[in-house]
Amino acid sequence: MVQSSVLGFPRIGGNRELKKATESYWSGKISQEELIEVGKKIRAENWLLQKENGIDLIASNDFSFYDQVLDLALLFNVIPEQYNKFDLNPLDKLFAMGRGLQRDSIDVTALEMVKWFDSNYHYVRPTFTPTTDFKLPSEDSLIKPLNEYLEAKALGVETQPVILGPISFLTLGKPEKEFLDSLNLLELLPKVLPVYQQLIDKLVAAGAKNIQIDEPVLVLDLDEKTQAAFKTAYETLKLSSANVTVATYFGTVVPNLDAIKSLPVSGFHFDFTRAPEQLEPILEWLSNEKQYKLSVGIVDGRNVWKNNFAKSLEVINKAVAKLGAERVTVATSSSLLHTPVNLEAETKLSEEIKSFFAFATQKLTEVAVLTKAVSSPESVSSELKANEEYVTKRATSKLINNKAVQERVAGVTDAMGRRNHPFPERYAVQKDFYKLPLFPTTTIGSFPQTKEIRINRNKFQKGKISAEEYEAFINSEIEKVIRFQEEIDLDVLVHGEPERNDMTAYFGEQINGYAFTLNGWVQSYGTRYVRPPVIIGDLSRPKAMSVKESVYAQSITTKHVKGMLTGPITMLRWSFPRDDVDQKTQAFQLALVLRDEVKDLENAGINIIQVDEPALREGLPLRSGAERDAYYTWAAESFRVSTSCVEDKTQIHSHFCYSDLDPNHIKALDADVVSIEFSKKDDPNYIREFKTYPNHVGLGLFDIHSPRVPSKEEFITKMGKILETQEYEKFWVNPDCGLKTRGWEETKLSLTHMVEAAKFYREKY
Ligand code: GLN
Ligand code: ZN
Repeated sequence: MVQSSVLGFPRIGGNRELKKATESYWSGKISQEELIEVGKKIRAENWLLQKENGIDLIASNDFSFYDQVLDLALLFNVIPEQYNKFDLNPLDKLFAMGRGLQRDSIDVTALEMVKWFDSNYHYVRPTFTPTTDFKLPSEDSLIKPLNEYLEAKALGVETQPVILGPISFLTLGKPEKEFLDSLNLLELLPKVLPVYQQLIDKLVAAGAKNIQIDEPVLVLDLDEKTQAAFKTAYETLKLSSANVTVATYFGTVVPNLDAIKSLPVSGFHFDFTRAPEQLEPILEWLSNEKQYKLSVGIVDGRNVWKNNFAKSLEVINKAVAKLGAERVTVATSSSLLHTPVNLEAETKLSEEIKSFFAFATQKLTEVAVLTKAVSSPESVSSELKANEEYVTKRATSKLINNKAVQERVAGVTDAMGRRNHPFPERYAVQKDFYKLPLFPTTTIGSFPQTKEIRINRNKFQKGKISAEEYEAFINSEIEKVIRFQEEIDLDVLVHGEPERNDMTAYFGEQINGYAFTLNGWVQSYGTRYVRPPVIIGDLSRPKAMSVKESVYAQSITTKHVKGMLTGPITMLRWSFPRDDVDQKTQAFQLALVLRDEVKDLENAGINIIQVDEPALREGLPLRSGAERDAYYTWAAESFRVSTSCVEDKTQIHSHFCYSDLDPNHIKALDADVVSIEFSKKDDPNYIREFKTYPNHVGLGLFDIHSPRVPSKEEFITKMGKILETQEYEKFWVNPDCGLKTRGWEETKLSLTHMVEAAKFYREKY
């Protein structure tokens, strides 16, 4: 019999209970016991829901109060010294490592947080030293996977504990600072394996029959040593006492297949939604290796679309035909952590759009139906039929298809992605036109989003104030920001973005082809959840989206005001994308929407226009090769299509943060000026890399994540360092990113000091 499996369920609760409880605990409003109870309740609900849906393999240990990688670090005693100095209980230690702690005499910063592969989830990066003392807690009650397994069992739910595997755990971490160059993380393998063994033995002794070990790094480019480490690790571990499934997701495992081909485990899980092309080679291999089961990841754990049953069944049935039903499991592609909890909570979505979606709860049914469809299709005939109807309805829906948009995308030419003249010629015109001083100063766009702004936005959304009143309020905020910038003598001003709640949603709401959820939250990190808009169909812009605010700002000052837009790649990456057309097509549709907006801004007298692309780097495909090369090309092209419709004199800015960027990648955008997050880099090599960048650059001079105010002298030193390598004529002066999360007080001081430092160098050059 084919089995069903779900690799993990969202842990935030259907009404964001976990966020509310955790933040209440942090602010001292509830006790730790109360918080722990909330976690327990969410877990119980999740398990029982899966059981009700008839899922055979239900994950446990997929819950976390902060992050599952951090949980494992804490469990294995991978705890940097500074967190052990204080007598913190395990949960407080977890939070201290995840988000830092400043209380009484305690002052520790958080560990680094990084993106979980190409998802919008972030994990806390474990740090290792040569002497990391891997061990389990002495009391079983502190062994989280064991506890949760037993907790589910007590509820009558047999679960499959999920543990991040040794190779992924080590390679997703990093050496502590002093050991950056000397410690090869895989050297720690012999020390960590006995702890894995103990953990597994304890789970087996408690009754666990199935264990899932995640090795998601198998979808990355791995060097030979890392590949070889799989064999070493899994041959050292004694795993025969349970059914151990090694799981990968988010990509193809095929380039690393040799590394896992003969591992002494019971089976493998692969993601066939993201990498359907791996089916043939995997079936070919497994047909000769009868000891392995195959878990077919086919219900998308990363998106909100209903499954296409007919298409999925093709894949599943191929596997069944080749391997036999006993060896096949039908599964979600990855944990459902990356999808919203329950579509039922969407009371404002139109019935039609709703009928296209499946959130985590609905995906459980999908897994169950697909599983039944293999052995007894008659038992689910009505579901299969309804799904067929959905597929046709969606494909032909007016909400999805817009012929004019499709034709326009098909008609994009190379010329549309090229400015009239190359940068040096444009710059000559711009220099004359703007007459900016050396070291021009600017900001990245947003100014503090005060409580007052949020209250007024809320009132407007709820209809408590009229559109006119709201507009008057926004204008008064814009005026405040403009006057302040004039006062401290910034050179290129911004309107401050008070009208925007979020840089993607704000535009998405004004674009046809987008849908919004009320409750579609997914965890980004810790208690930060995001509610990505959904691209449902061909995208078009009914009217200008940002012109009014920029024009107002420009009308009240004689200085240049920079228009502010979110670029096509960022719009795409921070939304749930369509699964029926490729990402490039969606990016180009967005590019055309933005192109019209850029043109409108230019026509309205906005001469400087910034198109933000903070998500440019994260769109990069996980593996090198053709797909990644193609991305470099189309991502840059989509940006250029958005911005190349303007005259030479119009200055296009772009902005990037969150990641290491290759200057060559940025070069291809051909923006006149780029601003880049830099303040925490402290890396002379990085500056040097930008020396070859042909256009103008502002390396972010201060960290906008912190209320700390750098002094004028600090700015001068920092700029001095950059000036050792960078040409001074290309040098823009700006912060790392937008200031929306900052308070006014520190913003005023930091920017004032920044402008003073720019003036200091103006005198010198
Ligand atoms: N213009 C945006 C802002 O200032 C950019 C934000 C970002 O890069 N994340 O808020
Ligand atoms: Zn930014």
